[in-house]
Amino acid sequence: MKQISTRVHNLQPSPTVALTDKTRVLKSQGLDIISFGAGEPDFATPSHITEAAVASLRSGFTHYVSSRGVSDLLDAIASHLRSANGISIEPTKEIIVTAGSKIAIYMSLMGLLDPGDEVLVLDPAWVSFDPMIRLASGTPVHVALDWRKNFRLEEKVIEAHVSPSTKAIILNSPNNPTGQMLSLDELKIIEKLANKHDFYIISDEIYDRITYDGAENISPASLPGLKPRTLTTNGFSKAYAMTGWRLGFVAGSQELISQILRVQQHVVTCATSFVQAAGVAALNGPQEPLEDMMVEYRKRRAFIVDALNDMPGVTCPVPAGAFYVFPRFEGLSLSSQELANRLLEESLVATTPGSAFGQAGEGHLRLSFACSLEDIETGMARMQKFLSRENH
Ligand code: GLU
Repeated sequence: MKQISTRVHNLQPSPTVALTDKTRVLKSQGLDIISFGAGEPDFATPSHITEAAVASLRSGFTHYVSSRGVSDLLDAIASHLRSANGISIEPTKEIIVTAGSKIAIYMSLMGLLDPGDEVLVLDPAWVSFDPMIRLASGTPVHVALDWRKNFRLEEKVIEAHVSPSTKAIILNSPNNPTGQMLSLDELKIIEKLANKHDFYIISDEIYDRITYDGAENISPASLPGLKPRTLTTNGFSKAYAMTGWRLGFVAGSQELISQILRVQQHVVTCATSFVQAAGVAALNGPQEPLEDMMVEYRKRRAFIVDALNDMPGVTCPVPAGAFYVFPRFEGLSLSSQELANRLLEESLVATTPGSAFGQAGEGHLRLSFACSLEDIETGMARMQKFLSRENH
């Protein structure tokens, strides 16, 4: 038989999704795994959101809807973007509701790239940016940020990776895996470079509602100098604990959005009809459930950061947003992949190796604290024991 697609064959499976699947299997075999792997809130979807979808289903809202999205949801997203992100958007022309925010990023790349176009990826970067760029026939260009400089952006480092083929940069703030958030000064660097070298911005803001100590997400599209060239993607999975619902959106100029709409029409038609009713309830309904989740995340963040910093050879910065910590491990003669493997096999603790987020993440592990405080306590005790053994 003929060779199947080499482009797909050459892709690695998603380390985060594969780890989640593996952990699920190990747990089903009765192993007492503590999972810091999946970036998935452990909370139930708030009931008013679920009820809105059930009511929509019962009313027979089960057919195709507009490819752009249901108008109530487009309006809700536009007003949310205005009030929370400072982005003024025309709901009927500048937004597409998507089946999750992953496909919003992927379709944005499909809409922007021609073969050979380069896309800047700031490492450590979420595991799927690179494969998505390749699938969309682009070339990822990795910009390694330095942990010694707290992974902050530097103009000269980014500019050294820009070429005439640079078509876009992907930003992700709050960041997965580091929990860092881009400052206004850093966005000004992006603005300067994007305008000087004429490239687009895809801004993945999936964690924008999960921030700590008053840190505020600054959306690139809220800067007038970036707005025309920015696609903002976001979704409902993290803020509203709706990972399985698959609901997200992309917002940008009419020209960019109409290009992406062609992709959506051919590959998905529309996001699931009754799930969009849930999205309206999420954005327009009470926000207390999100605040309740934040109360828990704050406690968990404080505990896990302290516990990790107490371990021998471990330095764990305090994340400004999202629900990940990205500690650095010194003095071990293990790669992050080996460390993650051994922690899973010997201590039954699942973590994601830093190298999954690019070479700049080597020496680190990513731990998601979207799990119970009790699990965090048990997991930290196991890691402490493992590291004390290894360091002797
Ligand atoms: N985004 C989450 C993570 O990084 C969920 C899995 C995935 O989509 O990669 O763990």
